[in-house]
Amino acid sequence: MPTLLAPLHQHWHSGKQKMASTKKVFDLVIIGAGMMGSAAAYHSSQIPGTSVCLVGPSEPKVRKEHEIFGCWFDEGRICCRVHEKHTWSVLSSRSIQRYREIEKQTGLNFYSNVGNIQCLEKKEEFESLLQMNQQMTASAEDVSKKWNDIYPFFNFPDDIYILQEKVNAGHISPREQVRAHQTAALQHGTEIVRKIVSTVTPADNPDYKYAGHRILF
Ligand SMILES: Cc1cc2nc3c(=O)[nH]c(=O)nc-3n(C[C@H](O)[C@H](O)[C@H](O)COP(=O)(O)OP(=O)(O)OC[C@H]3O[C@@H](n4cnc5c(N)ncnc54)[C@H](O)[C@@H]3O)c2cc1C
Repeated sequence: MPTLLAPLHQHWHSGKQKMASTKKVFDLVIIGAGMMGSAAAYHSSQIPGTSVCLVGPSEPKVRKEHEIFGCWFDEGRICCRVHEKHTWSVLSSRSIQRYREIEKQTGLNFYSNVGNIQCLEKKEEFESLLQMNQQMTASAEDVSKKWNDIYPFFNFPDDIYILQEKVNAGHISPREQVRAHQTAALQHGTEIVRKIVSTVTPADNPDYKYAGHRILF
């Protein structure tokens, strides 16, 4: 029997706790099946020989008071490569590069590669974005002088600074992205448990069904 770091005690909606018949021990248990947890399940499930369990409820069909909220219960997330911080720019760029691959693998489309613009009032902030654009070789363009021709339907002030990323930027559907990551994770053997975790306990109680060598919250 391997050493358990923290078996999980699940919250059972019936109110009565069930005894576990057989304990399932995973290399990694991820708590929270939202945007981060689902992506983590997908990526970790690709590590050879690693068993992964993702725990968390689906989006509720009807929202009630006190229900756990997930930041992915909607259809719009902006994504672009050029950000103020270098780390953010690198992570965004790497994520966007993988979107089509995950879509192909799962047959679920979540990414619209329609471009993005950022509007800034402060010249210093705009210049730091331009620097980041260069550093990332992201091919964004300064359209501060011509936005009116490109986007006649916008009404920005004349002294606004605008950076346009025509490609490798746009928006995603967080709902569909979560679904795609979970589908890909399932394809790689992840077990998904649709429960709310209420307690994480040390390893010496035989009553709990799910356990992990590592727990990611
Ligand atoms: C309206 C809105 C607009 C946003 N726009 C953007 C944007 O344009 N671009 C961008 O990059 N980011 C945006 N964000 C931020 C982005 O959505 C979040 O950073 C991201 O969803 C965080 O991921 P997460 O997995 O940490 O949390 P979530 O996606 O919220 O997932 C957490 C999950 O954990 C589950 N959970 C919680 N407690 C438990 C428990 N006890 N047991 C089991 N499961 C549990 C929840 O059910 C949920 O599914 C936006 C957020 C919101 C709300």
